Amino acid sequence: MLDCHCHLDLYSKPSAVARRAEAAGAFTVCVSNLPSAYQHSRPYVAGHPKVRLALGLHPLLAEQHLSERTAFEAFADQTSFIGEVGLDFSPEGKATEDIQTESFAFVLRVLGHKPKFVSIHSRRAEARVLEMLREAKRTSAVFHWYSGPLAVLRNAVADGHYFSINPAMSRTPSGHKIIAAIPKDRILTETDGPFVTVGRRQAEPPDVILVEEYLGHLWQRPALEVRQMVADNFRRIMATLQNHAN
Ligand code: MN
Repeated sequence: MLDCHCHLDLYSKPSAVARRAEAAGAFTVCVSNLPSAYQHSRPYVAGHPKVRLALGLHPLLAEQHLSERTAFEAFADQTSFIGEVGLDFSPEGKATEDIQTESFAFVLRVLGHKPKFVSIHSRRAEARVLEMLREAKRTSAVFHWYSGPLAVLRNAVADGHYFSINPAMSRTPSGHKIIAAIPKDRILTETDGPFVTVGRRQAEPPDVILVEEYLGHLWQRPALEVRQMVADNFRRIMATLQNHAN
């Protein structure tokens, strides 16, 4: 199973979460919100080959971006996994729109044409994110927890992008509408743990099974077949990265 967007460093016991993910056979992409967080998360993933660390520059931490950009550039060649990056023009991020836009342009410039798995935050800025990806000629990016207009979603599909679905999306009517609009060959699974909860506890990578079950129900396929389809989708993205340092 695949959890392609999990904030490992934000759990109280990251190493235990990594150990449980690995034991359950999950492949986990641990996004980070800043290069300094990427750096200090290294020990949590050490010894867990299926738990990978992604380098991020989260739009809602824009005030810290100036002092972190140099490190982003320095670390970018160390990993094939990038995230969480993107834009947030919701009321929470409105004040830093300009810095965010500069930073996302910077991220895309640093990545250039290098093959990378890129997990993207796009809240209330979906069209702008898509436009910037298009300008940078980057395809196969992954929109995480997409919640924007369906028209923009369709354009993102047409541009060759993917979407990662979490358990919170699989239990709300708005999430259901989004999920139904995504082609089967563009869907991936995530938890966004520890932000997403399952019952009263924080979601962990093996909880992507809840998304597999929802998709199985929606598509009238066994959950195991859904897992295989998601794995195929992920492999398709990763196939372009195989000659790259991991
Ligand atoms: Mn996140």
